[in-house]
Formats: sequence, structure tokens, C-alpha cells
Amino acid sequence: MIVIVEEQAPNANEVRQALAEAGAEDVHMFSLGDNIVLMPRSGDHGVVHRITSVLPSARAVSLNAPSPLADRKNFTADTMVPVGPVAIGGPEFAVMAGPCAVESVAQLRDAAQAAKAGGAVILRGGAYKPRTSPHSFQGMGYEGVRLLACVGHEMGLPVVSEVVDPRHVEDVAAYVDILQVGARNAQNFALLAEVGRSGRPVLLKRGFGCTVDEWLAAAEYILREGNSRVILCERGIRTFEGSTRFTLDLAAVAVVKRRSHLPVIVDPSHGTGDRALTAPLALAAAAVGADGVIVDVHTNAREAECDGDQALSSRDFHSLMVRLSILVSAIGRPLAQTPPAASTAR
Ligand code: PEP
Ligand code: MN
Repeated sequence: MIVIVEEQAPNANEVRQALAEAGAEDVHMFSLGDNIVLMPRSGDHGVVHRITSVLPSARAVSLNAPSPLADRKNFTADTMVPVGPVAIGGPEFAVMAGPCAVESVAQLRDAAQAAKAGGAVILRGGAYKPRTSPHSFQGMGYEGVRLLACVGHEMGLPVVSEVVDPRHVEDVAAYVDILQVGARNAQNFALLAEVGRSGRPVLLKRGFGCTVDEWLAAAEYILREGNSRVILCERGIRTFEGSTRFTLDLAAVAVVKRRSHLPVIVDPSHGTGDRALTAPLALAAAAVGADGVIVDVHTNAREAECDGDQALSSRDFHSLMVRLSILVSAIGRPLAQTPPAASTAR
């Protein structure tokens, strides 16, 4: 069991006092939205009863369901994840863009300029690349993360980058605004717990072999560490269909928006593997209720070290943004924008 202390209830200090009164101090306490979650560390069932008897606004929730912390039944309000000047999951639609992989200063600057000029509010760039073949370009690693942070700072854009190893989380978290957990690591539970403990916003891709239930349970590993800054990302699943790289499951976006309070974005680049399909599916993602998209942009895709076929040119990205802007305005969710001369606030 866990205990949820509802909104407008006692503040954290009052809750701590009540726990002391109830002799229930061995409790992991953290906030989730406007609620305080109390998770007893011991298996003593009496603890939950003692807590609810001293805190009348508290509600006990069973841990029999796999993802009670991600569940909208327990936390009704939409979770917003502030990143720099943007709130992912808020009223505005957020666009993240940049190269699949950080390859060099010049390549990253060019792509970042294209992303910024088109109106992206967050710069993406993979430094630790989880490649299927060990012989493929594995990314620039730590140097790439530092480069990304540096170019993001120059452009006034917060940055997102993937982390593939629990041992790297602390170092990567020191440089990026959002830690990405990729599809191939979507059920790497040690990594999920570690990004949870980092306290940084986490972009959690759906594993391409994961059901919606498994995806939400993966998010639960981050949430249970007391980190509620989780952004889910649909990026396609494996099906029998071979005409796209993966099958982008846009229905799952609507399902997850109903089942969970967490923001959901879509990656139409990795989902389709085809730059010609990125724009239509980005538009469809906005129409189906996603809170944003993350899109690959490269100014010289033919020379890209990684996923060149799915990268948009500067011009294609601009054209997508023009159409997205019209569509999201029509559905009452204007594009998030970076204030002029904004700095990367963390
Ligand atoms: C990526 O975004 O760079 C990436 C590798 O995506 P995914 O984990 O969805 O394949
Ligand atoms: Mn990629």
C-alpha cells in the first residue's frame, strides 16, 4: 500500500509531524503534482492504517496494480514538466528537434540553428548511441554531451540526450535538461531507477516490444524514486508491417492520455524511419492529443552518421513547423515558443 495525501491537505512539515505522531517515520515521502505520496519502507501493514488515522485527508492505494503512481485514477490533474521556459504537458504544444547523433561542433551548430530557426523549443542530440551493431558509430559519449550543452546554451535552448548506462547518469544529468531513456533501454530497470533518483526530467521512450501497460510500469520505476518529471514518448512498435521502420502507434497516445496524468509526446522520425512521413505523422500526433513531438533534423543528412534517411532538412523542418502551427492553433494548443534572448534556465 501507499498513501496519497490530497491537494489542499497539510503541507510537508505537517505531514512529517503527523507521521512522527503515528510512529511511522520509516516512510519514503515525495510530492507528485499537488499531492504528497507516502510509501512505507517496511512491510508493516499497520503503518498505513496509523497514517490514515492521523491524516484525515490521506487515502490508501493498493500496490496490486502495476503502475498506481502513473495512473490518472489516483492523480487526476495533468502533470506538467517544466523545462526551461516550456511546460511539457501544459497548454502549449512543444517541439524538440535536432540531429539523431552529435557528430561534430559544425554539424551540431548547423542542425541546432535549423531547429531554432524553425521554432523548436528544445534541442535534441544523441551522444551515447544505442546501436544495433557494435560496428556502427557509437556516438561521441561524454564529449558529445558537453558539446550539446554548449551549443544549447549558445542557442538559448534546453537540451535532451540519451543515457544508456546507470553509471553515466550523474555525469550526463550535470549537462542536460532532459535525460532520455531510449526504446532499447525502456525496461532497463536499474537505469530507470537511476534516472528517477537524478531528479532530472526524463523522456521515456516506449520500448518497441512493450505494451502500454509495460510502458506505464516502466514510468513507475522513475516515479517511485520521487521523480514525477516524466515525459512519455511514443516512437513506434514492431508489428508485421514492413513499409515503415516501426509502426507508430498513435492510438496509444490517446489511450495513455486517458489512463495516465503524464505528458505524452511522439517521435515520428524514429517511428517511421522515413523523412517523407515525418511531417504527416507529426501533424497526426498533434491532432490525436500529443503534448509535443521530437523530430530529427540534419542539414546534411546524406553524410549523417546515424539515421540520415529520417532526418529533415532545414527547409523541410520549417515547412513542417508552418503547418503544425496552423494545426495546433486550430485545436487550441499553440506552439510553445522560446522567449527572445532566453537563457537555458534549469
Ligand atoms: C533516439 O531518439 O536517438 C533513439 C535512438 O530513439 P529510440 O530509442 O526511440 O530508437
Ligand atoms: Mn536515431
